[in-house]
Amino acid sequence: MASLGEFDFIGQFLKTQAAQGQPFFDSPLALGIGDDAALIPPLPVGEQLVVATDMLVEGRHYRADVDPASLGHKVLAVNLSDLAAMGARPVAFTLAAALRSIDQQWLNRFLTGLFDLARSSQCPLIGGDTVGVSSDAPQSFSVTVIGAVPQGQALLRSGAKPGDALWVSGSLGDAAYAVSRWVTDPKLDWPSPRLALGQRLRGLASAAIDISDGLSSEIRHLLEESGSHGSAPLSAVIDWQALPLGPSLRLALQSRSISEDGARVFAATGGDEYELLCAAPAFAHDKIAAIGESMGLPLTQIGRLVETSAGPCGISWCDHQGQPIPSELAAECGRGGFDHFK
Ligand code: ADP
Ligand code: MG
Repeated sequence: MASLGEFDFIGQFLKTQAAQGQPFFDSPLALGIGDDAALIPPLPVGEQLVVATDMLVEGRHYRADVDPASLGHKVLAVNLSDLAAMGARPVAFTLAAALRSIDQQWLNRFLTGLFDLARSSQCPLIGGDTVGVSSDAPQSFSVTVIGAVPQGQALLRSGAKPGDALWVSGSLGDAAYAVSRWVTDPKLDWPSPRLALGQRLRGLASAAIDISDGLSSEIRHLLEESGSHGSAPLSAVIDWQALPLGPSLRLALQSRSISEDGARVFAATGGDEYELLCAAPAFAHDKIAAIGESMGLPLTQIGRLVETSAGPCGISWCDHQGQPIPSELAAECGRGGFDHFK
């Protein structure tokens, strides 16, 4: 295996590839990798900057034997998911990498996954940092993504009101189900940040959050933030039969590898989904349904927000008829986000 130094890595691997297919660099005011810092051209009038950082650490967020292409994809995807949840569009990103060695083959695959998503999202890599760590230390990758959103129109976790409906995009549970069986799953390894959806929810959703830690824990974040900004404490009533199960869970149900209750607990608590959860007032219902249809992305109304405080953690889990589900199940659904390595 060829051994390269830090500067070869930056020069050969990054600089040339990062600019490919990125209209960002058409501006004479744009400057990417190679100088002491990057330059971002001014945003169009009326837009504000959005910044988010997420890090993936070996042994904690991913296994050492992960497909490097999926890891490259994922470290950018989880950051783009945060932009999506804000209703923002991507502008550019930086990458900080802590590497044990410059393993050219591994890094080539990593960068293929990274740059494929960067190009399809029109989000160029404009800088970063590369450090070496000792041979027994975990590797890690941290991305800072920069986005833009029309001034004052960002989707926040606060803003949800009693009476709002709760919606989720796509399907839930497959990523955590895969983790529990130590297998790979497209939902786990190749998450699709819901950028287009997030931008289309501006002006319709009253609050939004991405599901990185599991539905029930994200609902609680939304309740806490919205409740503390509004007048009354908020609770959520969730129709747990309405939770959209992922394709792997539905297959497992068909083959009876998992019980229906078990599958719904995965959907309620499983992390690493990168779907969007949003609250929206009644007037937005038909428009949100139409957005889902036009995008070919299922958008499911899973419950609603109410003023009275109810159940543990402010979430009441009910069946289609509105009857509470058994308390042991509700307690399982209310558990915090799924943690891969705990
Ligand atoms: P400095 O010593 O000024 O921090 P570096 O040698 O760390 O400079 O980086 C040189 C150039 O390479 C900078 O433009 C930096 O943004 C870029 N760079 C370094 N590592 C990465 C990386 N992992 N991803 C993207 N760009 C990087
Ligand atoms: Mg540096």
